[in-house]
Amino acid sequence: MPEKAVVIALGGNAILQHREAGTAEEQLANLRRAAIEIAAIAAAGYAVAVTHGNGPQVGDILLRNEIAKDILPPMPLDVCGAESQGMIGYLLQQALGEAGLDMPVAAVLTRTLVDGGDPALFGSPTKPIGPNYTAMQARGLEREKGWRMVQVPGQGYRRVVPSPRPLALVEGEAIARLFAAGVIVIAAGGGGVPVVGEGGGTLRGVEAVVDKDYTAALLARLVGAGDLLLLTDVEHVALNYGRADQQDLREMTIAEARRHLAAGQFPAGSMGPKVEAAVGFLDAGGERATIASLDSAADALRGRAGTRIRR
Ligand code: ADP
Ligand code: MG
Repeated sequence: MPEKAVVIALGGNAILQHREAGTAEEQLANLRRAAIEIAAIAAAGYAVAVTHGNGPQVGDILLRNEIAKDILPPMPLDVCGAESQGMIGYLLQQALGEAGLDMPVAAVLTRTLVDGGDPALFGSPTKPIGPNYTAMQARGLEREKGWRMVQVPGQGYRRVVPSPRPLALVEGEAIARLFAAGVIVIAAGGGGVPVVGEGGGTLRGVEAVVDKDYTAALLARLVGAGDLLLLTDVEHVALNYGRADQQDLREMTIAEARRHLAAGQFPAGSMGPKVEAAVGFLDAGGERATIASLDSAADALRGRAGTRIRR
């Protein structure tokens, strides 16, 4: 096991950005920027595992399914999640290959065990996914497929799915062995494909979304990384984000992070899970957690960019 180890999480929104159409070329170009940073970090002597989000990508896959549904059967959400891991994993392998790494790289299609009794799976689902629908379409989907739909102001209706916490990675042992052998492992994309135990060793894929920030923290503990680096499309975590009195943070203690979370500074669908995952990682024995932009990963790991949360 090398002395320095880091888990790097790439934000789905940084890989496919809001203003972009979402072509393979655009995503590859964004991943090349990340790959340059990852190569620099590996060259500095770090063992590296990479994970990534998939929100915008799985959104596109779901829309493709929706448009083609009269010709080809739509795939369930767990299968779409696996598709997105394959797509992003492949593009990242390509980008890392071009970045001149001298270690082997492998993408591991990863399933994430979630608790079948998790209240998030049975209570009211919270995570909006996929395309917008009209009120009439939404009622039809609720009837025909049993989907839960919510009205989103200004967007129409969207499907919502549960967002359970990750318990363990089914491929954890395979990932840990590759990592220990010096392989740059790409794993648990999109938080991993959520599965529940059925008894008798059977696992069943569920239509849910695990937040990749929580899975990244789990992955970091699994491989024994001292550093967790959460990369997204903003330079810093901020207080009063988006307001005139926005204040970018360079550092937070765990206690400050908890206080700001409780005060609602970091929303549930975006910055909240990152800060919570960072705090959870430090509580579980991690050394440093840093939230930064995709382009400043190497500087962020040195404490020269982004927002560091420390014990
Ligand atoms: P990712 O795909 O990287 O997980 P998210 O959209 O989930 O991206 O989270 C990053 C987003 O969080 C930023 O683009 C920013 O708009 C938003 N955000 C919300 N609150 C804050 C905050 N307090 N400080 C910084 N960014 C914030
Ligand atoms: Mg996110």
